[in-house]
Amino acid sequence: MLPVVNVGHKSLGDYATIATRGLMEEIRRLAEPLAGKRVVHLSATAFGGGVAEINYTLIPLMADAGLDVEWRIIQGQDEFFNVTKTIHNALQGNPQGLTAEQEQIFMRYNAQNAAEFDDDYDFVVVHDPQPVSMIDHFPDSQAKWTWRGHIDFSTPNWDVFNFLLPSISHYDAAIFHMREYVPDARNLPECFIWPPAIDPLAPKNMALSPEDAAYIVDQFGIDVERPLLTQVSRFDPWKDPLGVIDAYRGVKDRFPEVQLALVGSMAHDDPEGWDFYNKTVAYADNDPDIFILSNLNNVGSVEVNAFQVHSAAVIQKSIKEGFGLTVSEALWKARPTVAGRVGGIVVQIEDGQTGWLVESPDECADACIEALRDPTEARVRALKGKEAVRRNFLTPRLLRDWLALFNRQLGNETAGVELASVAA
Ligand code: UDP
Repeated sequence: MLPVVNVGHKSLGDYATIATRGLMEEIRRLAEPLAGKRVVHLSATAFGGGVAEINYTLIPLMADAGLDVEWRIIQGQDEFFNVTKTIHNALQGNPQGLTAEQEQIFMRYNAQNAAEFDDDYDFVVVHDPQPVSMIDHFPDSQAKWTWRGHIDFSTPNWDVFNFLLPSISHYDAAIFHMREYVPDARNLPECFIWPPAIDPLAPKNMALSPEDAAYIVDQFGIDVERPLLTQVSRFDPWKDPLGVIDAYRGVKDRFPEVQLALVGSMAHDDPEGWDFYNKTVAYADNDPDIFILSNLNNVGSVEVNAFQVHSAAVIQKSIKEGFGLTVSEALWKARPTVAGRVGGIVVQIEDGQTGWLVESPDECADACIEALRDPTEARVRALKGKEAVRRNFLTPRLLRDWLALFNRQLGNETAGVELASVAA
């Protein structure tokens, strides 16, 4: 069988007063008819990136709501993950497609994983493209299968999307972060729209005092008396760390004391990561005020939290972004947040109100300069951003949406919860 991830225990009760009022009651009502239902989440990695981040909270809370939930990881070698990375890039618009051999590798690993999987569940939730074709091997499944796409599908490479479409069409439902991401294709199952969420009580997002944050970043060599800009992201061209360095250089002209931290973990399913890490290091050109850190420097969740809390501004200068959990993470800490006007970032930041949306390194530099020049005004924005995150992007809301979908799939009432959907 595919290995199970141990997600530990979380208690919904702990979230009662931090989430918006009424949500807990909705969750309670939605959970009742689902008591004991068996759910499995399938994904490619338990480590690194947004999907893992979400599942570590969503799954224990689903369990606490009374469902019998597991998270299993599909297995693959580098040859598979090289193909899935190409697929990931192509679905976000990269013109490079798949060779016939790569298509075969993809299908072969999906078949192997399917052979290691037993579909004896009420609900199967498949995350992202890597395991999407396992469903082809369960034509008579009694389970409801839902495919959750976490990336930006607004301008897909159609050759690659159409290669996956026969599998996607077997699902009972598909979920996208935004309406704009639903590909204009026939044969899609019914599509639902809801964004992901962050866990306000996880070590990454729990309240950390400014003193503790300063104490932690100091250990990485940051001068805590001088302003710091931070981007937390995998080393990936879409996250544009080189553009962040350009922006930092623009800020440095005006604020010579500024420092930059690029904090990026290496996901196991991301073989490109190391190349791009090396490119980023070369681009920083030994600037002693640029700190390039990864999980190999022991930057775990609490350290990411500390870097975000300690920063004068948090940057997320993505060029493409499915959602960008890091944006909600920064806003939740009431940090001035400067981010690319792309993908899911635009639903998290209202430009000029709760943060800054930028389209170039120059604009990014200008926004950071504004935040450094007038920290009081920057804080006013950030506090508004935090309340927007509370309303929309905390895990209890995500749990509610899943429970509403499961009920709907069983033909139950959805306790008045309306899910945004796009007809099949
Ligand atoms: N992250 C982390 N350490 C790092 C880099 C990223 O813990 O060095 C986390 C980050 O805080 C966020 C997630 O990984 O929770 C990345 O999710 P996001 O949606 O921003 O981007 P993705 O990697 O899914 O494209």
